[in-house]
Amino acid sequence: MATSLVNGILERNKDFAAYHRPHKFFSESIGLIRPSILIITCLDPRCNPEEFLCLMPGEAIIFRVGGGRVAPLVAQITSLDCFIGGFQDLMIIHHTDCGATYLTEEKIHNHVLKEEGVSVEDASSLVLPVIADLEQSVHDDVKLLKETKVIRRELRECTKGYLYDVKTGLIRGV
Ligand SMILES: [Zn+2]
Repeated sequence: MATSLVNGILERNKDFAAYHRPHKFFSESIGLIRPSILIITCLDPRCNPEEFLCLMPGEAIIFRVGGGRVAPLVAQITSLDCFIGGFQDLMIIHHTDCGATYLTEEKIHNHVLKEEGVSVEDASSLVLPVIADLEQSVHDDVKLLKETKVIRRELRECTKGYLYDVKTGLIRGV
């Protein structure tokens, strides 16, 4: 059974739908609005690129994962590029005060090892969104994508890294 908050937001959806006008977007009509920017960033609610980049609908596709770390997204990126194509920019955006900077692999391993039947091998096989140094994590993720040959060469070459400051609201290249 859903919590009262979920029930509440399902009600809000009915209000939304009453005034909703569907976007003419790629799922209905490829080519009409074709997003040209692919953004990878953190799932932190403060780190919403639609807000801090003032994006218009259809300008960008956004993947939001823990820390904005790219490693778990390679298959997603190649699949999306196959489906939409034509991306001209790939932005990796990490942010200040990220939860991933407060995590360690050891802490996460201990957390999952509490579950029955989880082995040390299971735990250590996880690709974890841990960040020790923010600028370095951006450099590492840009490097990872640039060296991932299954991603289209032009897309790899246009990959750039950024840091978003949650206090000032400004983004800068890294
Ligand atoms: Zn974060």
